Amino acid sequence: FRKELNHVERLSLVGQMAAGITHEIRNPMAVVRGFLQLMQEKSPPTLDNYYRIVMEELDRANSIINDFLSLAQNRSVRMELCSLHDIIRELTPLLWADANLRGQSIEVRLDDELPNLLLNQKEIKQLILNLGRNGMEAMGEKGELTIETRKRVDGVELSVKDQGPGIPAAQRERLFEPFFTTKSQGTGLGLALCLSIVERHSGKISVQSEEGKGTMFTVFFPCPENVESWM
Ligand code: ADP
Ligand code: MG
Repeated sequence: FRKELNHVERLSLVGQMAAGITHEIRNPMAVVRGFLQLMQEKSPPTLDNYYRIVMEELDRANSIINDFLSLAQNRSVRMELCSLHDIIRELTPLLWADANLRGQSIEVRLDDELPNLLLNQKEIKQLILNLGRNGMEAMGEKGELTIETRKRVDGVELSVKDQGPGIPAAQRERLFEPFFTTKSQGTGLGLALCLSIVERHSGKISVQSEEGKGTMFTVFFPCPENVESWM
């Protein structure tokens, strides 16, 4: 269910988003500018370090722009009947490498009975990566990330579970708001993007979290025959 916005509401939303994105992109740009200035006077190895920071900040600005664009272009995307498991298997090496660097592990449990679903592969990859990265970022030095699929009567469930500190109740309602972040390097666009992807797939996303134990995000995808075709 998506509320139809009237013209004024839409304009004010665009204004709020523009303010948010401007602020987010100015930070990395200011850092890059400052370091480029410093680089004039330095030699290696200081220079190498500055060079790395500049590249990281440019990448960051780039990913903010990408996330923001995907969020803003809330248009219909091409859906194909495909296997969620193929998408997960394609992503596993990437997630595994990321987890390995952090000293964490990944457990994947796939339900053999899963039907094919109407999906946009690129968006579902993005969804799983965002949820997976959040889980890993929450866990710190060690811990296990579990990715699981389950067949349900009327669709399929995908869950991404971590052993991080959990999410305080007061924050749970704000998680999906654009620009809501508790991380110093966060953009707060990851979950907003997840929600818009799930909505485009006529699905649902929910979160269960227990402080001190961990967090589990669950996405529900309806069976293809129950997906209202609006493309
Ligand atoms: P970002 O990761 O850039 O902060 P997100 O939209 O991905 O933005 O997440 C928003 C916020 O939700 C995070 O800053 C964090 O506070 C909280 N959050 C999301 N996933 C988890 C998780 N698995 N465990 C704990 N907190 C989480
Ligand atoms: Mg995130």
